[in-house]
Amino acid sequence: MSKTLKSLRGFNDVLPQDTYFWNQTLKTLEQVLDQYCFNEIKVPYLESTSLFARGVGEATDIVEKEMFSFTTNDGESVSLRPEGTAGTMRACIEHGLSYNQEQRLYYFGPMFRYERPQKGRYRQFHQLGVEVLGIRSAALDAEVLIMLQQMWQALGIDEYVTLELNTIGSAENRADFGKALVAYLESYKDQLDADSQRRLGSNPLRILDSKDERTQKVLENAPTLEDFISEESKAYFAELQQILTANGIKFVVNPKLVRGLDYYNDTVFEWTTTRLGAQATVCGGGRYDRLVEILGGHSTPGFGFGLGYERLLLLIEEVKGRLTTPNADIFIINDGDVAAKGLQVASALRAAGLRVLNNTAGGKLKKQFTKADKSGARCVVIVNEDTLANDIIVFKDLATGHQEVVAIDDFVAKCKV
Ligand code: ATP
Ligand code: MG
Repeated sequence: MSKTLKSLRGFNDVLPQDTYFWNQTLKTLEQVLDQYCFNEIKVPYLESTSLFARGVGEATDIVEKEMFSFTTNDGESVSLRPEGTAGTMRACIEHGLSYNQEQRLYYFGPMFRYERPQKGRYRQFHQLGVEVLGIRSAALDAEVLIMLQQMWQALGIDEYVTLELNTIGSAENRADFGKALVAYLESYKDQLDADSQRRLGSNPLRILDSKDERTQKVLENAPTLEDFISEESKAYFAELQQILTANGIKFVVNPKLVRGLDYYNDTVFEWTTTRLGAQATVCGGGRYDRLVEILGGHSTPGFGFGLGYERLLLLIEEVKGRLTTPNADIFIINDGDVAAKGLQVASALRAAGLRVLNNTAGGKLKKQFTKADKSGARCVVIVNEDTLANDIIVFKDLATGHQEVVAIDDFVAKCKV
């Protein structure tokens, strides 16, 4: 026998028993998006590597070590998308959707990152993302956060997530802070972990995210980004907080929150949970007013988020339990040589709006009843010789055991109401 093939590490199948939960949850989210007048955009999974290097940032974790990149037969370097914003912006610029107009977009689909797989962290995972283009206002930032809060409520998980919020100011503010941080950290260089030492020259702000204890100790007395935020950014952040409070949105200001992507400015946020261990962030996002320009478009403000879909499902499952696929309303037993009639009855019941499992496999009556029980269907309809002769069927409610013989037409009519 040849060796059985397995899926790649970190690449998951979504099995039939899980797809109902998956799809229903997505439907709930899409209903909320619809109320906020968002339109879906579908962009390719594979893009030029340079898009992510420019869009996400050369010195970010994602581009430095998490991308699935390869060279095509033509010698072009391409990458599976590690996130959705860069590709969405590329599409908007390419199709003239960003210049001088407003867009309210969302996408859903797989993202790919070469990470060490563990619970809530995979190499192929899914994100629901939202991008709003053409608006720079605290009110818009607040509206998107209010929408997320509404999503958590619709899913019944709002009490298990916390909104963490920060402002990272403008690119200039961060450049000034970066210089001051490097100046301070240079004198403690030996005490920093290797990654952080390297980042001194490439992306000093990412040092703040270091999980290394000694590095964190050194950082205790370092200058803080807060001291470099401009008055304009401070006022913007204050207004955002005021609007959120007036709309009943609770949040925690976390001055340490900087996010791992280069394109953000001003507002950054994460929704975190204490219920998923180390993979605590369910959703993250922020404002990106320079990204479109960085990618070659006209300067256009943007705001958006990425929601980790598998983590969301894990959280729902953890705190509420999962939705299970509903069973059939009716199981049709084909008693005898009645296949054609069985299909006619099934069609009539489906047209009446019922979910029907028709046993086309036939078999002995007793075996078919066992199958009906196993299927979890609520009721059984028996199609037999009498059905062929007189258009009558046997109906049995499996829960109560109640059984009766009825004319097909009467039964279908009764099912409709
Ligand atoms: P983390 O700190 O957990 O690595 P991140 O900052 O890399 O997250 P983002 O790039 O902001 O994550 O992506 C948005 C969301 O996508 C995350 O908050 C998370 O819920 C989800 N996510 C990110 N990477 C993965 C992954 N490898 N597997 C599953 N979900 C992921
Ligand atoms: Mg990550």
